Amino acid sequence: MSSAAPAFSPAEPLTVMGAGLVGSLLSLYLARRGHPVQVFERRADPRRAGFQEGRSINLALSDRGWRALEGVGVADDIRQVGIPMTGRVMHDAHGALTRQPYGQDGQAIYSVNRGHLNRRLLDLAEARPNVRLRFGQQCLGIDLKNQRLDLLDTATQHAHSEPYTRLFGTDGAFSAVRGALQRTDRYDYSQDYLEYGYKELTIAAGPAGAWQLEKNALHIWPRGQFMMIALPNLDGSFNGTLYFPFEGAESFAALRTPAEVVAFFGRVFPDALPLMPQLATEYFHNPTSSLVTIRCYPWKHADDVLLLGDASHAIVPFYGQGMNAGFEDCRVLNELLDQHGDAAWPAIFGAFQAQRKPNADAMADLALYNFTEMRDRVADPRFLLQKKIEGKLAAQFPGRWTPLYSQVTFSHTPYAEAWAAGQRQDAIMARLMPHIRAEADFDQPAVQALVQREMADF
Ligand code: FAD
Repeated sequence: MSSAAPAFSPAEPLTVMGAGLVGSLLSLYLARRGHPVQVFERRADPRRAGFQEGRSINLALSDRGWRALEGVGVADDIRQVGIPMTGRVMHDAHGALTRQPYGQDGQAIYSVNRGHLNRRLLDLAEARPNVRLRFGQQCLGIDLKNQRLDLLDTATQHAHSEPYTRLFGTDGAFSAVRGALQRTDRYDYSQDYLEYGYKELTIAAGPAGAWQLEKNALHIWPRGQFMMIALPNLDGSFNGTLYFPFEGAESFAALRTPAEVVAFFGRVFPDALPLMPQLATEYFHNPTSSLVTIRCYPWKHADDVLLLGDASHAIVPFYGQGMNAGFEDCRVLNELLDQHGDAAWPAIFGAFQAQRKPNADAMADLALYNFTEMRDRVADPRFLLQKKIEGKLAAQFPGRWTPLYSQVTFSHTPYAEAWAAGQRQDAIMARLMPHIRAEADFDQPAVQALVQREMADF
């Protein structure tokens, strides 16, 4: 190819299925490279009045997500409407609070409104002349052989078919694009549901939009077999989420009347109940949703279909990484395009899935691991002591001991590496903690000798 020729055919249109968080960001990345992009989305345009938001009102955005947003120049804009959460605040059964910082001074995860983020990304995508957004278009199926999409116009109920050259499936956990891949030979797929569901509930704003709980924190009410969490909103309210077993003595199935719900919350979340005036109504009005981990492979079909985001790796929400991982997918794909050139799709699709799959699997494991930590272990004083000791190890061995949470949340270390290091750290802590009763014990010569031995090979 001569140096004057473009590295790809600008006429080659790219198709993105799903304009959720990942699809809208991906469209922007692809459009900025000069590709014509057409985006199909099942829902109506979320920027139109009267649009009903779907699940989870706010999300925790952390370093991986920020970096991907920086790549399309939208991070500063979103930061204006994000609320930094510098730590978690645990509420015990008597309403007493314990605070645990997430990282070092200046480090925070951000509570961001899902709808705002999605709408902003769509605005930016639409502002580009080479992006065409088509809402109300549901993918019903795909003819992989003939590269055609079967679509339903949801307004007119008219079924139609459209060709594609290169298709990016960002249509979420129950992806229709993946559905087509699943029907190909030797396709690996698994879905695992937790026996827990979740329900969103509101912690109300105080007078004049004041936050009634500490604003710059993620709040957790850990109760062993279940928990509630809450993230701050800009209007002074908090978006609470109850993670609760579907069945059993304390479960969604067991709470059948408004009086039972209020009595239960009064017993297990006594400091939250007075801040939840709409509890009884919301509890019965808001859906109970399920929690699933989806793994699949390959993420590509031939050289013309690629899955990204939840379509390829849906995870449970306990590390606050699903969207962050999907945004990282977009950033990594863009880097591979830089590396290989925009015409080298076979190499890029191959490299993308080889690089991302082990990291997505590790993140899925990490998310399940953090569920136990959040609902159970953070209420245990021994666990909180262990976290303090880990902080001391990080200070004593900077660069060698980075807490697992920081590696996942405040770094760009591949998830698989972070998870492997975290498991080695857990093993060391299991050997160290029996020798430690209080924070000061860490400086005892015998404990320090043990620390030095453990760290020699780490
Ligand atoms: P989605 O957001 O699901 O978007 C898919 C899009 O495709 C949607 O717009 C949908 O309408 C469209 N679509 C679906 N099917 C079709 C079809 N057949 N045809 C056309 N269009 C279609 N992640 C974080 O990083 N931090 C958090 O704090 C966090 N909290 C969470 C809390 C909860 C309760 C849940 C459930 C998830 C949370 N996540 C969080 C995960 C995050 O929501 C997802 O990882 C993220 O939304 C994935 O983005 P996506 O674009 O891949 O999929």
